[in-house]
Amino acid sequence: MNALLTPGLYIVATPIGNLGDLSPRASEILLNADLVAVEDSRVTAGLFRHLGQKGKMLPYHDHNADAVRPGLVARMATEAIALVSDAGTPLISDPGFKLVRDAREAGHTVTTIPGPCAAIAALTLAGLPTDRFLFLGFLPSKQQARAESIAEIAAVRATLVLYESGPRLSACLAALAEGLGDREAAVAREITKKFEECVTGSLTQLAERYAEAPPKGEIVVVVAPPGAPAPATADDADAALAEALTRLPTSKAAGEVAKKLGLDRKALYARAMEMKGSD
Ligand code: SAM
Repeated sequence: MNALLTPGLYIVATPIGNLGDLSPRASEILLNADLVAVEDSRVTAGLFRHLGQKGKMLPYHDHNADAVRPGLVARMATEAIALVSDAGTPLISDPGFKLVRDAREAGHTVTTIPGPCAAIAALTLAGLPTDRFLFLGFLPSKQQARAESIAEIAAVRATLVLYESGPRLSACLAALAEGLGDREAAVAREITKKFEECVTGSLTQLAERYAEAPPKGEIVVVVAPPGAPAPATADDADAALAEALTRLPTSKAAGEVAKKLGLDRKALYARAMEMKGSD
């Protein structure tokens, strides 16, 4: 039983490069947890060295998670169990969601200690719209699977955020340009570290730049949403009205086309009457 922490699961975000980003609350949980589930104990040992204490760590990663999880969940009834990943926010392209799911199902308290996340940090650097974004994690590395994944999200009206490695960056940017069109984008690298940089340009420009010199370090790619569709022309309106009039009475046809093309319903109604008159 822990005198300082209520039993349960604590999801603890850790720095993505700069140890100064470890929050006081995250430090407190890590120092006082009965056990810290870690992806790689050598990595998290560095964090404990920074805190001046040896951690009580248990490896929890993709290869042992199914075997280790039931024991961890059982311990949450009486102990404070923390979950960290090597860097950043656990569960974000990192293990943990099944642990949270099972902890909840077992009725344990689940608490989050939010903090650094490379995807969110990159969004703040890119200078692209942030009101709607879609996080894609890592795209498949094989060419065809990657092209299929990109085709799936080509019409999504949101900024895209994805993780990528240096050696694959240029091919990934070229595939994005091919599947999405040559949108504006940003490559954020080594965020919060000494050589942090954020390079912006079109997808094609960035693909060319990194083809010559694949970058070192950790990378997030941010891609602008698709541009606004071109406004509907008079010909578009006539074609849509002609088609709608084959199925609907005039006023309903005008309403449907107004909604679909973002045009004025009354003007469309008048035009539909004209078109019917000239039949
Ligand atoms: N859970 C982590 C988070 O919250 O960001 C992400 C884990 S994922 C396995 C690791 C990937 O995140 C890296 O390959 C890289 O794409 C991105 N990443 C992590 N740290 C980064 C940094 N300091 N700068 C840029 N990208 C980073």
